[in-house]
Amino acid sequence: PGTSEQEHVVKAAAGITFSLFLTNTGKVLVKGLQDKKITHISCGQQHSIAIDEQGIIYVWGYNGYCRLGLGNQQDVLTPKVVPQFAGPQDMLMGAMIAAGPSNSVVVDRQGMYWMAGKWKNTGDGSGGQPYSNFRYMQDIMSVACFLSFMTQAEVLLRACKMKFVACGGVTHWALAPDEEDSGVMTVCWGQNAANGELGLGPDEVKSSTKPMRNVPLIGIDVFAIAPGQNTTFFLVHPNEKYSDLPRHPAELDAPDLCVVCNAEHGEDDAPLECEKCDRPYHLGCLSPPLTAVPDGEWFCPECTHNPGAPVGHDEPAPLPAVAQPKPKARSRKREEDVEDDEEDEQTSRKRKAPAKKAAASKRKK
Ligand SMILES: [Zn+2]
Ligand SMILES: [Zn+2]
Repeated sequence: PGTSEQEHVVKAAAGITFSLFLTNTGKVLVKGLQDKKITHISCGQQHSIAIDEQGIIYVWGYNGYCRLGLGNQQDVLTPKVVPQFAGPQDMLMGAMIAAGPSNSVVVDRQGMYWMAGKWKNTGDGSGGQPYSNFRYMQDIMSVACFLSFMTQAEVLLRACKMKFVACGGVTHWALAPDEEDSGVMTVCWGQNAANGELGLGPDEVKSSTKPMRNVPLIGIDVFAIAPGQNTTFFLVHPNEKYSDLPRHPAELDAPDLCVVCNAEHGEDDAPLECEKCDRPYHLGCLSPPLTAVPDGEWFCPECTHNPGAPVGHDEPAPLPAVAQPKPKARSRKREEDVEDDEEDEQTSRKRKAPAKKAAASKRKK
């Protein structure tokens, strides 16, 4: 990273034996792209795809299975424009790109999803044959556009807008707007996914040749996905549903007493517990102090300061006690704790901020 005046790398992508870097000024050091202002790059195992600020798509590299979407299998040694997305129709120019091992994906400016190359081995639809040109994927559009109150005709007419696309070793992912749940729908599919990389749940199918809605992620506000060869990572905005997911590690070794004063303030001033590290803080011991339990998730100063740090390591030395801890007393139950009757004393003495209701208010009435 450099200063704002200096050119610096903002994106990197890698295939099996090569890598690409994109700088903040839109440069990719590949012959043929020097004078283009590139906005995104993506690499498959042996091919690459890039998009410039005008929405023009460039492809190059190994072209087996027509993965470059140019209608043939000839390898391309310097970046070539994909004529399909080169205009003049503005809405059919590119908006997003993704490369899979042997396929390429373009999302056009209408949010339509186009696929080229080999993305499955057998089955209906393409019959396992690769797409030699970028083809509009009706399947994914109908999954992503479907809302329970819509008729089929409305589904087809509805203008879908893919917000994000990614391809992994055998998986394909897309995020589309969803008016019903968290505001985002996670769509996935992949033939021969055998390791749970689609994340459909322990009792569900592991692999799917047809795009389907990822049910366990309904209500989870996913905004980016990094699918690998056998694993998938999701970046999400925290919300109520996210807080309900099982957490790993399930139990954290957190102190019982406020980490600032190391004392009990009585049941009316139970400490607030950090959503990430579980360490308790009195409202008044924070700097600046809080006067009320905050809405939504609350993270302690340390976790806020260093959000990427692992929890449960490098615990600071315990602060000297400033007062003799009083014997443990069960605190007055808070309204949201009513269901948690089986909690032990230690847990119920601490309190968590009520989860955000933002997701609920976004729901379509
Ligand atoms: Zn305290
Ligand atoms: Zn914390």
